[in-house]
Formats: sequence, C-alpha cells, structure tokens
Amino acid sequence: MTLNEVCNRSFANGVVYALKTEDDFPIEVTDTFLPFYTKDAIGRKQNKLDNCDLGDRSERFIIGVSTMSGCPVGCKFCMTGKLPKWRRLTAEEIVDQVEFVLSKHHEIKFTDAKEYKINYTRMGEPFMNLKEVKRAIELIEQRWPGTHHYVSTVGLKGSDFSWIKDNITLQVSLHSLDEERRDDLIPIKKKMSIQELGQIRTGSNLKTTVNMTLVDMADFDIEKLKSNFDPSKFFIKVSPINPNAVSEGNNLGAGAIEGVNLVCIRRVSWKIIQRRFVISWKMRVSIMRLHSRLRQRLMLVPLAVSSVSSRKRRSKLKVGRMCCKMHPLTKEES
Ligand code: SF4
Repeated sequence: MTLNEVCNRSFANGVVYALKTEDDFPIEVTDTFLPFYTKDAIGRKQNKLDNCDLGDRSERFIIGVSTMSGCPVGCKFCMTGKLPKWRRLTAEEIVDQVEFVLSKHHEIKFTDAKEYKINYTRMGEPFMNLKEVKRAIELIEQRWPGTHHYVSTVGLKGSDFSWIKDNITLQVSLHSLDEERRDDLIPIKKKMSIQELGQIRTGSNLKTTVNMTLVDMADFDIEKLKSNFDPSKFFIKVSPINPNAVSEGNNLGAGAIEGVNLVCIRRVSWKIIQRRFVISWKMRVSIMRLHSRLRQRLMLVPLAVSSVSSRKRRSKLKVGRMCCKMHPLTKEES
C-alpha cells in the first residue's frame, strides 16, 4: 500500500478519506453505498427513495477514486484545481485507493455486493491520464471481475471513446448549455463544444451521463438540451455545488440545486409545488416548462423538483439527490 490516511469524514451513506501518496501528494477517495433499486433509475424511469433505509454495502458498493493529485483544468467550483501542484497518479496508486477502501471492510467482499462500482470522479481529469486509467481498469478487472467502471470527463478535444464499452460508462460534464458560460466554468481551452459532446457514442451497457452542476437556472435550457442530447443515448443528471473556498471565491453560492431527497418529478404535482412554496414568477415559468417537458417524457431528468423557496430573494430549485448527503472534501461525487 503506497497511500497514507490523513483524515476522514463520515456521512449517512459513506466516508470520504483524505490520503497522501508516498511523495506527499494529497488525494481523496470515497467509500459509499446506495440502495440497489436506485440502480434502475434509467430503465424503470424511477429515481426515488422508497423509504429512509439507505441499505448497506451489500447493495451498491461504490468507490470514488482520484486519477490525479490536483488538476490543471481549474473548474470554477472545484478546490482540486486550486491545489498548488498536480501530478498524474499511476495505475497502481489508483488500484491502491480501491484496496485502501476495501481494507476498511472485512465484513464484506467487494464482489459480494449486488453492484460494485468504481467512479473515476474524484481528483483529476481521467482523460489527461488515460494510459494509467486504462491500465488501472485492467488491473481492477483482473482482481475484481465484473466491476462497473464509471469515468467522468469534461470532454477534451480529440478524445477517443472507443474503449468506453460494456461495463465501462462515460459521464461528461456539461454544467451549462451556454457555450461562453461553460467556457467560464470549465476554463480549459481544448475541450469539446456542447454540440460535439452530444455526438459522443459509446458501446457501454448504459447511456452516457450528462452532468450539470447547475450554478444558475439560466444555465439550463431544455430546448438546447433536447436538441443536442438524444435521450436514447444520454442520461441527464443535475447536481448541486458543494460550496467551498473556490466556489465561494468565484461567487457561485450554493448553486441552483439543493440536495434533499430523491424525488421523481413525475410524482410531484404542480399543485403541490404551488401550495407548499412561494416562488418567483420567473422561477415558476422555468419549473412549469421543465415539468411539462418531462411529463411528455421527451427526456428523463432523474433528480427532480422537490421544493422551491425564496430565501434571501433568490429562488432556489431544490432537487432531490441522495448522493448529496455526502459532502466530499473538495468536489462533487457523481
Ligand atoms: S471538477 Fe474535475 S476536471 Fe474540474 S478541476 Fe475539479 S477535478 Fe479537475
């Protein structure tokens, strides 16, 4: 084991660990779980918690690994990009993160979970360390066959997605449907346009996830989303910001999404929304449009409206997201 634990924080459905490499580079790894039925959010068009029971690691056992220490991309809401130095991790260091988490759980074998999954979503842009990420996936497959690999990218120009197939799934970071705004939030020059992201096709068993960490409702445009991302190929996920020194320094606040519980929008009636919450007219129009589009089943937005408030004169769209119960040290878990 080449990694040393520095500290950790526990949450309702897991733990996030801060680790250091042998040469003193910080990284983080998460150890989480979810009820198994949440796995079927896409196929069953269901994405809600049936009750308060979060299950345990025998259901969906998910390990979120870093592929770099630090990150040169420098997204506006992510502390990782502000670390003073960065380096790529080796495949062995990526696999060691999995071993580190598993060493905390003698009560269960990783492969005994109904689903066991590695999210390449913590520190770093995996496509900037592709050789080692691919090698790590090979090593993990040898040790724990049948692992589901979930690789997240901002979408670098010229990326090869041909290796994303079978039990490997892709997530792309969109964040805004306005190209300029997206450039500002993800300030790396050589990245794919929104239109190019929509043309990605993979051989994965699952749809490609489009992640939107929504800073402002102005970043969401259902027409552009629909015209760029074929709902038969893409799964749309909206995420909250985990406020940190960097996001606050960039005046991003807590974002447009506030995590509470998983609620399916098709089960939230407009009447309930109106009765329970006072909202601005502008926000009401946005919600109505989103709601009606979803009802037409043009696209499943899995994590849906649960409530709206007008706190501090800024209306917020609260969106259910179970994973939000776990606030990582620096960036958003996917
Ligand atoms: S969000 Fe990801 S790509 Fe962006 S700076 Fe953080 S680690 Fe890098």
